[in-house]
Amino acid sequence: QEAQAAQMERTFIAIKPDGVQRGLIAEIVSRFERKGFKLVAIKILVPSKEFAQKHYHDLKDRPFFNGLCAFLSSGPVVAMVWEGEGVIKYGRKLIGATDPQKSEPGTIRGDLAVVVGRNIIHGSDGPETAKDEINLWFKPQELVSYKSNAEKWTY
Ligand code: ADP
Ligand code: MG
Repeated sequence: QEAQAAQMERTFIAIKPDGVQRGLIAEIVSRFERKGFKLVAIKILVPSKEFAQKHYHDLKDRPFFNGLCAFLSSGPVVAMVWEGEGVIKYGRKLIGATDPQKSEPGTIRGDLAVVVGRNIIHGSDGPETAKDEINLWFKPQELVSYKSNAEKWTY
């Protein structure tokens, strides 16, 4: 009997309503895909305000919490799980700093967004939040395990 291969690292990434409305879905997916990360779950939905509050529960005492949750639930969001070595930390690097005025050019927010309240994308900030956010947004059976052909040339 073969030992189960160790689970590759996974992170939760969401394109916020502004990113969807601005037509940036393909652009954002493409940056993760070209890097060599693997898409294992994706769906589009309009989250309820209550759901947005759950997602951002860590920020409930911040002055922008209410506006942030209203915004996240204001339109379609593309929810995704991406897999790969170092994907949590490197995903944040692809995304760039929270405030697009401070994000480097070459990052998603640096290239595509202007203000912190409309920064187009979310990414988990660590292993614990990645696990919690994947569980909040997806049922286990919505995650697809597969071997991509590119993998043997990526690793
Ligand atoms: P990140 O999304 O980079 O992990 P945070 O977790 O600190 O950043 O904040 C979550 C989201 O809250 C940000 O992406 C942004 O949309 C919003 N936000 C953060 N700080 C502010 C702020 N000062 N004013 C308005 N919105 C903010
Ligand atoms: Mg965060």
